[in-house]
Amino acid sequence: MAQIVLRDLVKTYPGTRTRATDDISLEVRDGEFLVLVGPSGCGKTTLLRMIAGLETPDSGSVHIGGRDVTELPARERGLSMVFQSYAIFPHLRVRQNIGFGLTMRKTPKAEIDRRVAEAAELLHLTDYLDRYPAQLSGGQRQRVAVARAIVVDADVLLMDEPLSNLDALLRMEFRTELKRIVGRLGTTTVYVTHDQAEALSLGDRVAVLREGRIAQVGPPLEVYDEPADQFVGGFLGAPPMNFLPARLDRSGDRPALRIGDQRTAAPAALAEHPDDEVTVGVRAENIEVFDADGPDRLAARVEVVEPTGAAILLTVDLAGRQLKVQTPPTFRIGPGSPVWLAVDPGRMRFYRPDSTAVRL
Ligand code: ATP
Repeated sequence: MAQIVLRDLVKTYPGTRTRATDDISLEVRDGEFLVLVGPSGCGKTTLLRMIAGLETPDSGSVHIGGRDVTELPARERGLSMVFQSYAIFPHLRVRQNIGFGLTMRKTPKAEIDRRVAEAAELLHLTDYLDRYPAQLSGGQRQRVAVARAIVVDADVLLMDEPLSNLDALLRMEFRTELKRIVGRLGTTTVYVTHDQAEALSLGDRVAVLREGRIAQVGPPLEVYDEPADQFVGGFLGAPPMNFLPARLDRSGDRPALRIGDQRTAAPAALAEHPDDEVTVGVRAENIEVFDADGPDRLAARVEVVEPTGAAILLTVDLAGRQLKVQTPPTFRIGPGSPVWLAVDPGRMRFYRPDSTAVRL
């Protein structure tokens, strides 16, 4: 069992005033793939390094497999790691680099050969096994580092932006591959990235960090669909979630929303909400666009049209606010055109003035 339990981890670097991690508690289940994601400087690497034993917390504890390892050095924690600065040995061929951990563990040669060949195959490195690192591209070197980490079959795998040197296409291909490999090995994995798309696609669960704290943790679709606050809604998803200030209108049979001088249906459960001022959060793909007015539609004007291949992204002006709206690639419209928007009340999310979500 390689469950990781982090309790109240606080870390402030000498000479800095803010906490790099501010009382973080988190559990990573045995065999789980957990992604730490957040903007630059939010504390992801610091947290990972404290799990690894490369950084000492000011207070709090780290438990791996039921054992308190807070005071243990990195090499005694039974982990395998890939860090951004993937230190592969320049004087060793790819084959020896990948097999390094196994050689250190005195694994029999035939077993090393078999596992190195398997890892090389998975990471498309078979043709490079006899090369030296200097003869590889940055992306290939990064794959060697990943191969070296997975080949030892440790209970816990820690990865910090291991795909950062790959180009977009390779990165996506490799992401799929990594998910398959780690899923098969069943290794408890903590993976750091600042790329929200990578986080959503890789994680069994995603922990979104902000300024040294966990803003939300949960399965990717849950965190995407029900952001706990406006920061999470704005950070996850491309484009980010749209936010619109609105006023609750309780005058009719059903609650409605007033946005500027327009009105649209609100979910019935919102009638129970104590405040009249709310912020509506809605994803671009949950806004329907029409070329004519109709019940509950909101009049807007197209400002920018951006084809993305699989869809067309519109930037529209609604009551002086810019919204991102996603339409099918067949939708034809030009900048300046009037449009009418509709949102299924069930797809609307609501936020309080302090940015936290209203749970209906
Ligand atoms: P990135 O995505 O840019 O790598 P991150 O989320 O991994 O960022 P950390 O590297 O954990 O963030 O940094 C968290 C905070 O701690 C930042 O404000 C950073 O400036 C600070 N920090 C990190 N390492 C040190 C250090 N060695 N000394 C002083 N401050 C540090």
